[in-house]
Amino acid sequence: MDPVAFYVAGRPEHGADPVTVRHPYDGHAVGATTNATPEQVERAIAAAHSVSAEAAALPAHARAAALDHVSRRLAERADEIAQLITAENGKPLKWARAEAARAVSTFRWAAEEARRFAGDLQRLDTDPAATGRLAVVRRFPRGPVLGISPFNFPLNLVAHKVAPAIAAGAPIVVKPAPATPLSALLLGEILAETDLPEGMFSVLPLPNDRAAGLVSDPRLPVVSFTGSGPVGASIRRSVPGKHVTLELGGNAAVLLCADWTADADLTWAASRIATFSNYQAGQSCIAVQRVFVHEWIYDGFLPRLVAAVSALQTGDPFSDATDVGPLITEAAAERVESWVDEAVAAGATLEVGGLRAGATYPPTVLSRAPKSAKVSQEEVFGPVLVVSPVTDDEAGFAAINDSAFGLQAGVFTRNLQTAFAAHRTLQVGGVIVGDVPSYRADQMPYGGVKGSGVGREGLRSAIDDYTEPRVMVLTGL
Ligand code: NAD
Repeated sequence: MDPVAFYVAGRPEHGADPVTVRHPYDGHAVGATTNATPEQVERAIAAAHSVSAEAAALPAHARAAALDHVSRRLAERADEIAQLITAENGKPLKWARAEAARAVSTFRWAAEEARRFAGDLQRLDTDPAATGRLAVVRRFPRGPVLGISPFNFPLNLVAHKVAPAIAAGAPIVVKPAPATPLSALLLGEILAETDLPEGMFSVLPLPNDRAAGLVSDPRLPVVSFTGSGPVGASIRRSVPGKHVTLELGGNAAVLLCADWTADADLTWAASRIATFSNYQAGQSCIAVQRVFVHEWIYDGFLPRLVAAVSALQTGDPFSDATDVGPLITEAAAERVESWVDEAVAAGATLEVGGLRAGATYPPTVLSRAPKSAKVSQEEVFGPVLVVSPVTDDEAGFAAINDSAFGLQAGVFTRNLQTAFAAHRTLQVGGVIVGDVPSYRADQMPYGGVKGSGVGREGLRSAIDDYTEPRVMVLTGL
């Protein structure tokens, strides 16, 4: 299998040690690349650093044209990209298609933001002493961005970093996840078709133990990291002087409130929760993990949820019929299995699921798991739901907040007061009312509190993150 090139300062290159990419479902090789050498890493960083001023001065039409080109080419190659995502990540093809389509829209929106992103005028003459003064506030790139991404959305989570960087006029060095570099390299191939200046982007496959050198390099003053909590925390500690955004894990919860009682509502919520706890074998930071149900409706809801979860098809991710594919590795599935076993041993009821086959773990529902169990406390990152009754909406809010994480929450209610109470009370980055928490749009700020991270993504927020405001005060006006 010929190794796929990676990109150093916009040019395709090969490195030294080979990397074989394997299909998580059955372990067969689906592609190959090489890791970047220290010399190539150095050239990528040096090029990003030296192109910074030119990048910041790129006219909006040039940034937008590059982003529009990427969006168009991603659309043209969407089928091929979806196949590649499924091959390297193992998510079912229908979700890989959704990811490819989403990247098309991310770059299209980023082109819009590049055209819009201008700054602000602020009156200063509200103060008599400042009569005749006006502030022009513009945002300028902080410098090159280091984007580090995880395996679970091998294209989108790279797109969420690359697109706003180009929109903002900031060079970017991307380090994709070692298990899933191929989608990022295909994006690199498309980026290389644009007229962006040399050095504006690099995509460097590197093993975990070589990523720290990128993080500590002073020529990359912005670090945008998506991945696990411990790695994120160690990055933040290691570079206190840098501008660091962390998009970390979660154990997203939903609450079925006191007013969510109609049969059709319960069936619909069950179907949404079943789908979005399992949509990438649970390997999404906003996959539903914890389900809190008002005790009035608990007994009517649980069988519906078990039926909806039981209806999901587990198997070969390349089959259109498959809803749930493998986890990224057999070790990941073994970990999920051990956490479920631990919860059952501690008194949880296994309502459905629980028999692992290699890297594939079936959709699983646990009821009344103890609060101390890992499945209740930590991020499962697997297809496991933990369902618990709560006495009222306030108790449900408290249960959602009783977590080390706080990314997004779903609140099933039609009561406006309850929706606003949830928005006020829940310690999360986003509340989705009337649906599951597994929703992210490029227009909205996205990110978490507590152990779920620091800062926000979303195109506008990321552009703000990659830039800093500089004020010019005009006088005598
Ligand atoms: P991971 O932390 O193991 O790896 C993420 C990236 O960090 C990879 O590219 C990896 O090579 C790199 N890395 C590892 N050690 C490093 C180090 N010492 N210095 C610098 N980089 C290093 O995470 P993963 O297993 O690939 O992804 C799963 C995690 O990502 C889950 O916790 C999930 O919740 C989280 N995630 C969060 C979001 C979000 O937006 N909040 C989105 C997707 C995934």
